[in-house]
Parts: sequence; structure tokens; C-alpha cells
Amino acid sequence: MGAKSDIIEQAARMIDAAGKIVALTGAGISVESGIPDFRSPGGLWTRYDPVVYATFESFINDPSKFWEMAADLHPLLENAEPNPAHMALAELEKLGKCEAVITQNIDNLHQRAGSGQVLELHGTFRTGTCLGCRKQHTYEQIKESAFRGEIPRCVICGGVVKPDVVLFGEPLNASVLQRSNELASQCDLMLVIGCGLEVYPAASLPSYAKRGGARIIFVNIASTPYDPIADLILLGKAGEVMPAVVEAYKRIAEKEVKRFGRWKSKDN
Ligand code: NAD
Repeated sequence: MGAKSDIIEQAARMIDAAGKIVALTGAGISVESGIPDFRSPGGLWTRYDPVVYATFESFINDPSKFWEMAADLHPLLENAEPNPAHMALAELEKLGKCEAVITQNIDNLHQRAGSGQVLELHGTFRTGTCLGCRKQHTYEQIKESAFRGEIPRCVICGGVVKPDVVLFGEPLNASVLQRSNELASQCDLMLVIGCGLEVYPAASLPSYAKRGGARIIFVNIASTPYDPIADLILLGKAGEVMPAVVEAYKRIAEKEVKRFGRWKSKDN
């Protein structure tokens, strides 16, 4: 593991000390589940130019390009399993130490790991909406075409179905964004895991948290443009670092139970 044990301990103590904790996750947290991120070497954008394959404008002009890329991506998304980093966040929530996960990911892995409070900033690959009559389609209804790299057609009007993911140049869901901004500005600690922080408005959330007085922990295998605002940087793979942090936190919390006779919760 990259991050040293004293840094892991420091992160665990910050978790112990914090009341409201929020996680912000990006593509990096799912790399160990077999879903490549976009910008790392070998990432999706080295194979597909986002201007051609993933802008809202390009989708409207020629949806076949997006669905061509989806034939590559969807089998990975469907076969991926939550990894130890997703599980660690779900466990933190159960321990009362993660108010919500704000994710840029569309892969549904936080929910599958057991996190109950998940805000999907960029939507989900699990549903799609007809651009003609706005009927929402389930994954089962779009899956066959998606796997063949063909445009899924609306079961009602035959229109083009767009996945419910936010493409470049497309607005984010306003209520999800508002709630994410609130959570960021009101938390005491933000865990920023596997985020390149190059895509806005998600990239602004750590700064909102910082401005609201929160401490910030980054977990990443590489540096990001926002490293200077982090209070602690855990360099390493999320799937190795996060379980170690949660185990270290549990050891601290157990010692407190022995000392004070109760599990310290966010309310005390
Ligand atoms: P990004 O590709 O820009 O950055 C990924 C970050 O994760 C990088 O900083 C990289 O260093 C780090 N990383 C890679 N492997 C890691 C690991 N094992 N542990 C910890 N960190 C690791 O992605 P982004 O900034 O998160 O977002 C770009 C957009 O791509 C998002 O909007 C998201 O919607 C979309 N996306 C989603 C998925 C998914 O749902 N799994 C996958 C690819 C892209």
C-alpha cells in the first residue's frame, strides 16, 4: 500500500474527531472493480475522444457514436463488483461516520456495496429516457441494444433513448447538485476518493467544504490540481487505503468504548 501507517492513523483520528463526514468519489474508486477511469494512461479518453463520443451536442447530432462506445463500457459496468473501497464507505455509514456519498460515477457500485445515501451527480447507466416522448426505460429495456452498440429505441414511440448519464455540456440534476453543495458546505470532513477534480461543478465541492471549515482528506494514486487544499493526502489505491483507514478508525472507536463505556457517535 502507498500510504504509510502513520498517515492512515492520522486519517482515522480525523474521522473519529469529525461530526459530519461526506465522501466525494470519482472514477478512481471503481478502477479496482475493473472500470477504467477517463484520464489516466489507458483510460477511456485515450480510446474515445469525448468531443465525438460524450458531449450532449454530439449525442443529439449522432447518438450512434455514444452507443458505439457503450458497447465497450456496458459489459464492464454490468460485470463490475463493488471493491473494498466501496465496502469501506458503506461500513463508515453504518458506523455513523459517513452522512452521504456524493459520486461522479454512474456505475451503481456504492449502492450495491450497501451505502444508503448516494447522490449521483452524473446520473446512472441503469436507466435511459426517450428524447421523443420522455418515457423512462429500465436497464433491461436498453441493455440488448447497448451491448450490440446500437441505438436503443423507445418502446412507445420508437424515438432515440438517451442514457440517464450527464454528458459534457449537459446540466446536472438541480436538486442533486443543490443537496451536494449543502452537504459539502456543512460537513466537518470530506473524503475525496479517486477524483481527478478536473470536471466541474464536482471539482468545486472540496473548495466549498474547505470554505465551510471542513478538513479534507484526498485518497488518490496521483496528485490533483487541488492537492494544496488537502489537510491530508493518502497516496495509494483506494481499495487498499480505505479499508485500512476504516479498520484504524474502528480500533480507535473500540478503545473509546472501553474507556468511556459507549461508542462515540456524531452527536457527542
Ligand atoms: P478521472 O478519470 O478524471 O480521474 C480519476 C482519478 O482517479 C485520477 O485522479 C486518478 O489518479 C485516480 N485513480 C485511478 N485509479 C485509482 C485507484 N485505484 N485508487 C485511487 N485513485 C485512483 O475521473 P473523474 O475526475 O472521477 O471523473 C471524470 C468523469 O468520468 C466523471 O464525471 C464520471 O462521471 C465519469 N466516469 C465514471 C466512471 C464510473 O462510473 N465508474 C468511470 C469513468 C468515468
